[in-house]
Amino acid sequence: MKKIIVAIDGFSSCGKSTMARKLAREVGYVYVDTGAMYRAVALYCKRNGWLTPGTMDVAAIEANIGAVRLEFRLRADGSADMWLNGENVEQHIRTMEMSDGASRVSTLGVVRREMVRQQQLMGLGKGIVMDGRDIGTVVFPEAELKVFLTASAEVRAKRRMDELLAKGEAVEYDDVLAKVKERDERDQSRAESPLRKAEDAHVIDNTDLTPEEQQEVLRELFTSTVGG
Ligand code: C5P
Repeated sequence: MKKIIVAIDGFSSCGKSTMARKLAREVGYVYVDTGAMYRAVALYCKRNGWLTPGTMDVAAIEANIGAVRLEFRLRADGSADMWLNGENVEQHIRTMEMSDGASRVSTLGVVRREMVRQQQLMGLGKGIVMDGRDIGTVVFPEAELKVFLTASAEVRAKRRMDELLAKGEAVEYDDVLAKVKERDERDQSRAESPLRKAEDAHVIDNTDLTPEEQQEVLRELFTSTVGG
């Protein structure tokens, strides 16, 4: 069976990663969570004092992006953790602060170009499911299957809040909703590769879909693309 590239883009907290990871597991493809890469860059910048809640030292980030070494390392259960310069940072990047930081460092052209370069290398052999914001438009405009996932901001804020609460992070719904909307706005309006649907992407709105229904829609798209 021919191997393809599956590009999944969409707003934050839509469930892109869960959906992409499941498909990859079902069909034996590699899954790449590009959001984790931007989060790790944000963590690196924060630790060096170049990214605080109110400031971003663009010159320092631009000068040092070459020193950021990112790897996905597989765990025994088949899932992958994000490693930054030899350290497993998976737990450190899944916070609201790093969501926000990732959305800010990802506005920088020099950061995007480096991430895109690394992502394109990962896709050379195809057989990959990659999710993010610019996968179908910039990273793999030639991907055989493109999906644009969306859901209402309210549903996404609720899901995000439940996730953070489950991890013990104390959060208020109104705060999470405001952050979701702020990130949507920043992701869509940035000058460098703004989030937008590729013309040939299939839209899946999962506001009223169960995870199983959503997976079924994706599975059918995959099967018809590979078989066709
Ligand atoms: O998907 P996730 O929420 O982990 O992404 C964190 C942030 O990284 C997003 O809000 C977005 O600003 C940025 N990002 C991006 N391009 C990607 C993936 C993520 O700009 N391909």
